[in-house]
Amino acid sequence: MNTQDLKDTNDLVSLCKRRGFIFPSSEIYGGINACWDYGPLGVELKRTIKELWWRSMTDREDIEGIDAAILMHPKVWEASGHVDGFVDPLVDCKKCKTRFRADKLEPSAKKCPECGGELTESRLFNLMFKTFMGPIEDQAAAIYLRPETAQGIYVNFINILQSARQKIPFGIAQIGKAFRNEITPGNFIFRTREFEQMEMQFFVKPGTDTEQFEKWKELRFQWHCGIGIRKNKLQFHAHGPGELAHYAKAAFDIEYEFPFGWQELEGIHNRTDFDLSRHQKFSGKKLEYFDEETKERYIPYIIETSAGCDRTALVVLSDAYRFDGERVWLALHPILAPYKVGIFPLMKKAELCEYSNRIYGELKKRFRVTTDTAGSIGKRYRRQDEIGTPFGVTIDYDTLTNHTVTLRYRDNMVQERFPAENLAYIIEEKIKNWGN
Ligand code: ATP
Repeated sequence: MNTQDLKDTNDLVSLCKRRGFIFPSSEIYGGINACWDYGPLGVELKRTIKELWWRSMTDREDIEGIDAAILMHPKVWEASGHVDGFVDPLVDCKKCKTRFRADKLEPSAKKCPECGGELTESRLFNLMFKTFMGPIEDQAAAIYLRPETAQGIYVNFINILQSARQKIPFGIAQIGKAFRNEITPGNFIFRTREFEQMEMQFFVKPGTDTEQFEKWKELRFQWHCGIGIRKNKLQFHAHGPGELAHYAKAAFDIEYEFPFGWQELEGIHNRTDFDLSRHQKFSGKKLEYFDEETKERYIPYIIETSAGCDRTALVVLSDAYRFDGERVWLALHPILAPYKVGIFPLMKKAELCEYSNRIYGELKKRFRVTTDTAGSIGKRYRRQDEIGTPFGVTIDYDTLTNHTVTLRYRDNMVQERFPAENLAYIIEEKIKNWGN
Protein backbone atom coordinates (compact mmCIF):
# COMPACT_ATOMS: atom_id res chain seq x y z
CA MET A 1 0.00 0.00 0.00
CA ASN A 2 1.20 3.49 -0.77
CA THR A 3 2.03 5.93 1.93
CA GLN A 4 -0.91 8.16 2.81
CA ASP A 5 -1.14 11.51 4.51
CA LEU A 6 -3.54 12.40 7.30
CA LYS A 7 -7.09 12.10 5.94
CA ASP A 8 -9.13 12.52 9.10
CA THR A 9 -8.11 14.81 11.97
CA ASN A 10 -9.65 12.31 14.42
CA ASP A 11 -6.81 9.88 13.64
CA LEU A 12 -4.36 12.53 14.80
CA VAL A 13 -6.47 13.34 17.87
CA SER A 14 -6.33 9.71 18.98
CA LEU A 15 -2.59 9.38 18.30
CA CYS A 16 -1.97 12.56 20.30
CA LYS A 17 -3.94 11.21 23.25
CA ARG A 18 -2.49 7.69 23.06
CA ARG A 19 1.10 8.86 22.96
CA GLY A 20 0.90 11.83 25.30
CA PHE A 21 1.02 14.82 22.96
CA ILE A 22 -2.36 16.41 23.67
CA PHE A 23 -5.26 15.54 26.00
CA PRO A 24 -8.75 17.02 26.28
CA SER A 25 -8.72 19.51 29.17
CA SER A 26 -10.34 18.40 32.47
CA GLU A 27 -11.07 15.04 30.90
CA ILE A 28 -12.01 13.24 34.13
CA TYR A 29 -14.89 15.74 34.44
CA GLY A 30 -16.05 15.11 30.91
CA GLY A 31 -13.78 17.71 29.31
CA ILE A 32 -14.44 21.37 28.50
CA ASN A 33 -15.22 22.37 24.96
CA ALA A 34 -12.27 23.49 22.84
CA CYS A 35 -9.66 23.48 25.60
CA TRP A 36 -6.69 21.12 25.38
CA ASP A 37 -3.75 20.16 27.58
CA TYR A 38 -0.30 19.41 26.22
CA GLY A 39 1.19 16.19 27.59
CA PRO A 40 4.87 15.24 27.97
CA LEU A 41 5.60 15.03 24.24
CA GLY A 42 3.24 17.83 23.21
CA VAL A 43 4.84 20.31 25.55
CA GLU A 44 8.30 19.44 24.19
CA LEU A 45 7.08 19.94 20.64
CA LYS A 46 5.39 23.22 21.44
CA ARG A 47 8.38 24.56 23.33
CA THR A 48 10.63 23.68 20.41
CA ILE A 49 8.33 25.48 17.97
CA LYS A 50 8.33 28.55 20.18
CA GLU A 51 12.09 28.42 20.63
CA LEU A 52 12.70 28.19 16.87
CA TRP A 53 10.35 31.10 16.24
CA TRP A 54 11.88 33.15 19.06
CA ARG A 55 15.43 32.57 17.85
CA SER A 56 14.47 33.40 14.26
CA MET A 57 13.20 36.75 15.50
CA THR A 58 15.37 37.86 18.41
CA ASP A 59 18.71 36.62 17.06
CA ARG A 60 18.38 39.57 14.68
CA GLU A 61 19.90 42.87 15.75
CA ASP A 62 16.75 44.73 14.73
CA ILE A 63 14.22 42.80 16.84
CA GLU A 64 13.69 42.97 20.61
CA GLY A 65 11.60 40.63 22.75
CA ILE A 66 8.90 41.40 25.29
CA ASP A 67 6.57 39.53 27.62
CA ALA A 68 3.61 41.78 28.45
CA ALA A 69 0.82 41.07 30.95
CA ILE A 70 -2.35 39.31 29.83
CA LEU A 71 -4.49 41.75 31.82
CA MET A 72 -4.29 45.29 30.48
CA HIS A 73 -5.93 48.64 31.14
CA PRO A 74 -9.49 48.42 29.75
CA LYS A 75 -8.91 51.58 27.69
CA VAL A 76 -6.44 49.57 25.56
CA TRP A 77 -9.35 47.64 24.09
CA GLU A 78 -11.35 50.78 23.39
CA ALA A 79 -8.39 52.29 21.57
CA SER A 80 -7.67 49.11 19.63
CA GLY A 81 -11.26 48.89 18.43
CA HIS A 82 -11.92 45.56 20.13
CA VAL A 83 -14.72 46.77 22.43
CA ASP A 84 -16.78 47.97 19.47
CA GLY A 85 -15.42 45.92 16.64
CA PHE A 86 -14.15 42.53 17.78
CA VAL A 87 -17.42 40.86 17.01
CA ASP A 88 -18.57 37.91 14.96
CA PRO A 89 -22.10 37.58 13.58
CA LEU A 90 -23.84 34.64 15.18
CA VAL A 91 -26.85 32.69 13.92
CA ASP A 92 -28.63 29.71 15.49
CA CYS A 93 -30.65 26.97 13.88
CA LYS A 94 -34.14 27.11 15.39
CA LYS A 95 -34.56 23.37 14.89
CA CYS A 96 -31.30 21.58 15.78
CA LYS A 97 -29.84 24.50 17.80
CA THR A 98 -26.49 24.35 16.01
CA ARG A 99 -24.66 27.66 16.15
CA PHE A 100 -22.85 29.19 13.18
CA ARG A 101 -20.74 32.20 12.32
CA ALA A 102 -22.85 33.95 9.70
CA ASP A 103 -19.70 35.09 7.86
CA LYS A 104 -18.70 31.45 7.34
CA LEU A 105 -22.05 30.55 5.71
CA GLU A 106 -23.19 31.38 2.17
CA PRO A 107 -24.20 35.07 2.23
CA SER A 108 -27.83 34.29 1.35
CA ALA A 109 -28.17 31.22 3.62
CA LYS A 110 -31.55 31.07 5.37
CA LYS A 111 -31.57 27.34 6.12
CA CYS A 112 -29.32 25.33 8.46
CA PRO A 113 -26.59 23.44 6.55
CA GLU A 114 -26.88 20.60 9.08
CA CYS A 115 -30.63 19.91 9.15
CA GLY A 116 -32.32 22.37 6.79
CA GLY A 117 -34.05 24.13 9.73
CA GLU A 118 -34.74 27.85 9.79
CA LEU A 119 -31.93 30.15 10.93
CA THR A 120 -32.33 33.08 13.33
CA GLU A 121 -31.40 36.61 12.31
CA SER A 122 -27.69 37.20 12.92
CA ARG A 123 -26.63 38.92 16.14
CA LEU A 124 -23.24 40.44 16.85
CA PHE A 125 -21.25 38.76 19.58
CA ASN A 126 -18.09 40.20 21.16
CA LEU A 127 -15.35 37.58 21.38
CA MET A 128 -13.51 39.04 24.36
CA PHE A 129 -13.66 37.23 27.71
CA LYS A 130 -14.71 39.70 30.37
CA THR A 131 -13.81 39.41 34.03
CA PHE A 132 -13.54 41.70 37.05
CA MET A 133 -10.47 43.09 38.72
CA GLY A 134 -10.64 43.19 42.51
CA PRO A 135 -13.50 41.97 44.68
CA ILE A 136 -16.32 44.14 43.33
CA GLU A 137 -18.12 42.80 40.29
CA ASP A 138 -19.38 46.03 38.78
CA GLN A 139 -18.92 47.63 35.39
CA ALA A 140 -16.16 49.94 36.65
CA ALA A 141 -14.01 46.91 37.52
CA ALA A 142 -14.58 45.08 34.22
CA ILE A 143 -11.46 44.05 32.36
CA TYR A 144 -10.71 41.63 29.53
CA LEU A 145 -8.44 38.69 28.92
CA ARG A 146 -6.38 39.85 25.94
CA PRO A 147 -7.71 38.50 22.62
CA GLU A 148 -4.32 39.11 20.93
CA THR A 149 -0.81 39.75 22.16
CA ALA A 150 -0.14 42.64 19.78
CA GLN A 151 -1.54 45.42 21.98
CA GLY A 152 1.03 44.68 24.70
CA ILE A 153 3.66 45.52 22.11
CA TYR A 154 2.07 48.77 20.89
CA VAL A 155 1.64 50.22 24.37
CA ASN A 156 5.33 49.48 25.09
CA PHE A 157 6.60 50.98 21.85
CA ILE A 158 8.21 54.03 23.50
CA ASN A 159 9.60 52.00 26.45
CA ILE A 160 11.40 49.65 24.10
CA LEU A 161 12.46 52.30 21.62
CA GLN A 162 14.17 54.20 24.43
CA SER A 163 15.55 51.39 26.59
CA ALA A 164 16.89 49.25 23.73
CA ARG A 165 18.06 52.34 21.80
CA GLN A 166 16.68 51.00 18.55
CA LYS A 167 16.22 52.95 15.35
CA ILE A 168 13.47 52.51 12.82
CA PRO A 169 13.03 50.05 11.18
CA PHE A 170 12.94 47.64 14.10
CA GLY A 171 10.61 45.02 15.52
CA ILE A 172 9.23 43.71 18.80
CA ALA A 173 8.46 40.02 19.23
CA GLN A 174 6.25 38.33 21.77
CA ILE A 175 4.91 34.86 22.53
CA GLY A 176 1.94 34.56 24.85
CA LYS A 177 -1.55 33.40 25.60
CA ALA A 178 -4.61 34.96 24.03
CA PHE A 179 -8.28 34.24 24.69
CA ARG A 180 -11.27 34.44 22.37
CA ASN A 181 -14.79 33.33 23.17
CA GLU A 182 -15.09 31.74 19.72
CA ILE A 183 -18.59 30.97 18.46
CA THR A 184 -17.55 27.89 16.55
CA PRO A 185 -14.35 26.46 18.02
CA GLY A 186 -13.20 23.09 16.78
CA ASN A 187 -11.04 20.97 14.53
CA PHE A 188 -8.89 19.89 17.45
CA ILE A 189 -6.38 22.64 18.35
CA PHE A 190 -7.15 24.64 15.18
CA ARG A 191 -9.63 26.98 16.82
CA THR A 192 -9.69 27.02 20.61
CA ARG A 193 -10.80 29.54 23.19
CA GLU A 194 -7.41 29.74 24.89
CA PHE A 195 -4.34 29.66 22.66
CA GLU A 196 -0.84 31.01 22.23
CA GLN A 197 0.29 33.49 19.63
CA MET A 198 3.74 34.24 18.27
CA GLU A 199 3.57 37.83 17.08
CA MET A 200 6.12 40.27 15.78
CA GLN A 201 5.37 43.91 15.06
CA PHE A 202 7.87 45.66 12.78
CA PHE A 203 7.88 49.47 12.99
CA VAL A 204 8.74 51.16 9.71
CA LYS A 205 8.82 54.57 8.09
CA PRO A 206 5.62 55.33 6.13
CA GLY A 207 6.41 54.87 2.45
CA THR A 208 8.70 51.90 3.11
CA ASP A 209 5.81 49.77 4.39
CA THR A 210 4.98 47.97 1.14
CA GLU A 211 8.56 46.84 0.66
CA GLN A 212 8.82 45.66 4.30
CA PHE A 213 5.48 43.88 3.99
CA GLU A 214 6.73 41.91 0.99
CA LYS A 215 9.94 41.04 2.81
CA TRP A 216 8.16 39.71 5.91
CA LYS A 217 5.68 37.74 3.82
CA GLU A 218 8.54 35.84 2.23
CA LEU A 219 10.53 35.42 5.45
CA ARG A 220 7.55 33.93 7.26
CA PHE A 221 6.72 31.56 4.42
CA GLN A 222 10.33 30.36 4.39
CA TRP A 223 10.31 29.86 8.15
CA HIS A 224 7.48 27.33 7.89
CA CYS A 225 9.34 25.48 5.11
CA GLY A 226 12.47 25.55 7.29
CA ILE A 227 10.79 23.60 10.10
CA GLY A 228 9.95 20.91 7.57
CA ILE A 229 6.42 21.76 6.41
CA ARG A 230 5.97 20.60 2.80
CA LYS A 231 5.95 23.60 0.51
CA ASN A 232 3.13 22.28 -1.70
CA LYS A 233 0.85 22.25 1.37
CA LEU A 234 1.38 25.97 1.99
CA GLN A 235 -0.04 28.90 0.06
CA PHE A 236 -0.69 32.60 0.35
CA HIS A 237 -4.19 33.97 0.45
CA ALA A 238 -4.57 37.69 -0.19
CA HIS A 239 -7.39 39.43 1.65
CA GLY A 240 -9.78 41.04 -0.80
CA PRO A 241 -11.38 44.44 -0.06
CA GLY A 242 -14.31 42.78 1.76
CA GLU A 243 -12.02 40.75 4.04
CA LEU A 244 -9.55 43.45 5.07
CA ALA A 245 -9.67 44.43 8.73
CA HIS A 246 -10.52 48.07 9.49
CA TYR A 247 -6.89 48.85 10.35
CA ALA A 248 -5.19 47.07 7.46
CA LYS A 249 -3.86 48.41 4.18
CA ALA A 250 -2.87 44.93 2.99
CA ALA A 251 -3.13 41.46 4.46
CA PHE A 252 -2.00 38.01 3.42
CA ASP A 253 -2.64 34.74 5.19
CA ILE A 254 -0.25 31.84 4.99
CA GLU A 255 -2.60 28.89 4.61
CA TYR A 256 -2.03 25.18 5.12
CA GLU A 257 -3.98 22.39 3.48
CA PHE A 258 -5.51 20.61 6.49
CA PRO A 259 -7.71 17.50 6.06
CA PHE A 260 -10.61 19.97 6.50
CA GLY A 261 -9.38 22.29 3.74
CA TRP A 262 -7.06 25.27 3.21
CA GLN A 263 -7.08 27.39 6.36
CA GLU A 264 -5.12 30.26 7.86
CA LEU A 265 -1.96 29.45 9.78
CA GLU A 266 -0.46 32.91 10.05
CA GLY A 267 -1.49 36.44 9.12
CA ILE A 268 0.84 39.12 7.76
CA HIS A 269 -0.71 42.57 7.94
CA ASN A 270 0.20 46.09 6.98
CA ARG A 271 -1.54 47.84 9.89
CA THR A 272 -0.47 51.35 8.84
CA ASP A 273 -0.24 53.90 11.69
CA PHE A 274 -3.67 52.89 12.96
CA ASP A 275 -2.58 51.30 16.25
CA LEU A 276 -0.08 53.89 17.45
CA SER A 277 -2.34 56.79 16.36
CA ARG A 278 -5.25 55.35 18.31
CA HIS A 279 -3.15 54.74 21.44
CA GLN A 280 -1.71 58.23 21.15
CA LYS A 281 -5.23 59.64 20.99
CA PHE A 282 -6.70 57.55 23.80
CA SER A 283 -3.74 57.79 26.20
CA GLY A 284 -2.79 61.37 25.44
CA LYS A 285 0.89 60.26 25.26
CA LYS A 286 3.06 61.01 22.24
CA LEU A 287 3.90 57.83 20.35
CA GLU A 288 5.94 59.43 17.59
CA TYR A 289 9.37 58.61 16.32
CA PHE A 290 11.99 61.26 15.77
CA ASP A 291 14.58 60.51 13.14
CA GLU A 292 17.82 62.13 14.34
CA GLU A 293 19.41 62.12 10.90
CA THR A 294 16.61 63.53 8.77
CA LYS A 295 14.97 65.48 11.65
CA GLU A 296 11.63 63.99 10.62
CA ARG A 297 8.92 63.21 13.14
CA TYR A 298 6.26 60.62 12.34
CA ILE A 299 4.04 57.84 13.67
CA PRO A 300 5.54 54.61 12.33
CA TYR A 301 3.63 52.13 10.22
CA ILE A 302 3.45 48.58 11.50
CA ILE A 303 3.97 45.34 9.64
CA GLU A 304 2.62 42.50 11.74
CA THR A 305 3.36 38.79 11.52
CA SER A 306 0.91 36.84 13.67
CA ALA A 307 1.08 33.06 13.95
CA GLY A 308 -0.79 30.73 16.26
CA CYS A 309 1.55 28.50 18.19
CA ASP A 310 -1.06 25.78 18.69
CA ARG A 311 -2.05 26.07 15.06
CA THR A 312 1.58 25.69 14.05
CA ALA A 313 1.74 22.57 16.23
CA LEU A 314 -1.35 21.26 14.43
CA VAL A 315 0.26 21.96 11.05
CA VAL A 316 3.48 20.26 12.13
CA LEU A 317 1.64 17.16 13.38
CA SER A 318 -0.82 16.99 10.46
CA ASP A 319 1.96 17.43 7.93
CA ALA A 320 4.12 14.74 9.55
CA TYR A 321 1.39 12.10 9.87
CA ARG A 322 1.97 9.06 7.61
CA PHE A 323 0.14 5.76 7.24
CA ASP A 324 1.05 2.87 4.93
CA GLY A 325 -1.82 0.51 5.73
CA GLU A 326 0.05 -1.05 8.62
CA ARG A 327 2.39 1.42 10.17
CA VAL A 328 1.69 4.95 11.42
CA TRP A 329 4.60 7.33 11.86
CA LEU A 330 5.26 11.02 12.29
CA ALA A 331 7.80 12.14 9.70
CA LEU A 332 8.85 15.09 11.86
CA HIS A 333 11.93 17.08 11.03
CA PRO A 334 14.51 15.96 13.65
CA ILE A 335 14.75 19.51 15.03
CA LEU A 336 11.09 19.17 16.09
CA ALA A 337 11.01 15.53 17.17
CA PRO A 338 10.51 15.29 20.97
CA TYR A 339 13.17 12.56 21.03
CA LYS A 340 15.95 12.39 18.45
CA VAL A 341 17.11 8.85 19.24
CA GLY A 342 15.53 5.74 20.75
CA ILE A 343 18.00 3.26 22.23
CA PHE A 344 17.07 -0.40 22.52
CA PRO A 345 18.85 -3.47 23.83
CA LEU A 346 17.63 -6.27 21.54
CA MET A 347 16.62 -8.31 24.57
CA LYS A 348 16.29 -7.58 28.24
CA LYS A 349 19.59 -9.31 29.08
CA ALA A 350 21.98 -7.78 31.61
CA GLU A 351 25.00 -7.48 29.29
CA LEU A 352 22.92 -5.89 26.49
CA CYS A 353 21.19 -3.49 28.91
CA GLU A 354 24.50 -2.47 30.39
CA TYR A 355 25.96 -1.66 26.94
CA SER A 356 22.75 0.13 26.01
CA ASN A 357 22.88 2.25 29.17
CA ARG A 358 26.42 3.31 28.30
CA ILE A 359 25.35 4.45 24.84
CA TYR A 360 22.31 6.16 26.34
CA GLY A 361 24.57 8.10 28.72
CA GLU A 362 26.86 9.15 25.89
CA LEU A 363 24.14 10.24 23.45
CA LYS A 364 22.18 12.03 26.18
CA LYS A 365 24.99 14.57 26.38
CA ARG A 366 24.20 15.62 22.81
CA PHE A 367 20.51 14.89 22.11
CA ARG A 368 17.16 14.24 23.76
CA VAL A 369 17.12 10.44 23.83
CA THR A 370 14.83 7.75 25.15
CA THR A 371 15.17 4.06 25.86
CA ASP A 372 12.69 1.22 25.87
CA THR A 373 13.16 -2.39 26.91
CA ALA A 374 9.52 -3.54 27.02
CA GLY A 375 8.13 -5.91 24.39
CA SER A 376 9.43 -7.13 21.03
CA ILE A 377 11.89 -4.94 19.16
CA GLY A 378 9.29 -4.47 16.39
CA LYS A 379 6.76 -3.08 18.85
CA ARG A 380 9.34 -0.77 20.33
CA TYR A 381 10.23 0.60 16.89
CA ARG A 382 6.53 1.21 16.17
CA ARG A 383 6.05 3.12 19.39
CA GLN A 384 8.94 5.44 18.47
CA ASP A 385 7.68 5.76 14.89
CA GLU A 386 4.35 7.01 16.20
CA ILE A 387 5.99 9.77 18.22
CA GLY A 388 8.31 10.74 15.40
CA THR A 389 11.69 9.63 16.79
CA PRO A 390 13.86 9.77 13.65
CA PHE A 391 16.63 7.36 14.73
CA GLY A 392 16.69 4.02 16.53
CA VAL A 393 19.84 2.40 17.87
CA THR A 394 19.80 -1.33 18.62
CA ILE A 395 22.36 -3.13 20.72
CA ASP A 396 22.58 -6.88 19.95
CA TYR A 397 24.98 -9.74 20.67
CA ASP A 398 27.35 -8.72 17.87
CA THR A 399 27.68 -5.36 19.58
CA LEU A 400 29.31 -7.07 22.56
CA THR A 401 32.06 -8.53 20.39
CA ASN A 402 32.64 -6.04 17.57
CA HIS A 403 31.25 -2.82 19.16
CA THR A 404 28.94 -1.99 16.26
CA VAL A 405 25.23 -1.15 16.55
CA THR A 406 22.34 -0.87 14.08
CA LEU A 407 21.00 2.55 13.26
CA ARG A 408 17.40 2.40 12.03
CA TYR A 409 15.69 5.21 10.15
CA ARG A 410 12.07 5.97 11.01
CA ASP A 411 10.90 7.01 7.54
CA ASN A 412 12.12 4.10 5.40
CA MET A 413 12.95 1.57 8.14
CA VAL A 414 16.37 0.96 6.55
CA GLN A 415 19.01 -0.29 9.00
CA GLU A 416 22.75 0.28 8.81
CA ARG A 417 25.58 -0.87 11.05
CA PHE A 418 28.06 1.58 12.50
CA PRO A 419 30.78 1.51 15.14
CA ALA A 420 29.18 2.55 18.43
CA GLU A 421 31.90 5.14 19.06
CA ASN A 422 30.94 7.09 15.89
CA LEU A 423 27.21 7.22 16.62
CA ALA A 424 26.90 10.71 18.01
CA TYR A 425 28.84 12.20 15.11
CA ILE A 426 26.88 10.23 12.49
CA ILE A 427 23.51 11.24 13.95
CA GLU A 428 24.57 14.85 14.22
CA GLU A 429 25.60 14.89 10.56
CA LYS A 430 22.35 13.26 9.48
CA ILE A 431 20.33 15.87 11.36
CA LYS A 432 22.42 18.66 9.86
CA ASN A 433 21.88 17.35 6.33
CA TRP A 434 18.20 16.41 6.80
CA GLY A 435 16.18 16.77 3.61
CA ASN A 436 19.26 17.37 1.38
P1 ATP B 1 -10.50 33.95 12.16
O1 ATP B 1 -11.04 34.99 11.25
O2 ATP B 1 -10.27 32.61 11.50
O3 ATP B 1 -11.22 33.81 13.46
P2 ATP B 1 -8.38 35.81 12.61
O4 ATP B 1 -8.14 36.22 11.20
O5 ATP B 1 -9.17 36.67 13.52
O6 ATP B 1 -9.02 34.34 12.61
P3 ATP B 1 -5.91 36.61 13.66
O7 ATP B 1 -6.52 37.59 14.56
O8 ATP B 1 -5.23 37.10 12.42
O9 ATP B 1 -6.99 35.50 13.27
O10 ATP B 1 -4.93 35.71 14.52
C1 ATP B 1 -3.61 35.45 14.15
C2 ATP B 1 -3.28 33.99 14.31
O11 ATP B 1 -3.62 33.52 15.62
C3 ATP B 1 -4.08 33.09 13.36
O12 ATP B 1 -3.43 32.98 12.13
C4 ATP B 1 -4.06 31.77 14.11
O13 ATP B 1 -2.87 31.05 13.84
C5 ATP B 1 -4.08 32.19 15.55
N1 ATP B 1 -5.44 32.10 16.11
C6 ATP B 1 -6.41 33.02 16.03
N2 ATP B 1 -7.52 32.61 16.65
C7 ATP B 1 -7.25 31.36 17.13
C8 ATP B 1 -7.99 30.40 17.88
N3 ATP B 1 -9.24 30.64 18.27
N4 ATP B 1 -7.39 29.23 18.19
C9 ATP B 1 -6.10 28.98 17.82
N5 ATP B 1 -5.36 29.86 17.13
C10 ATP B 1 -5.91 31.03 16.79
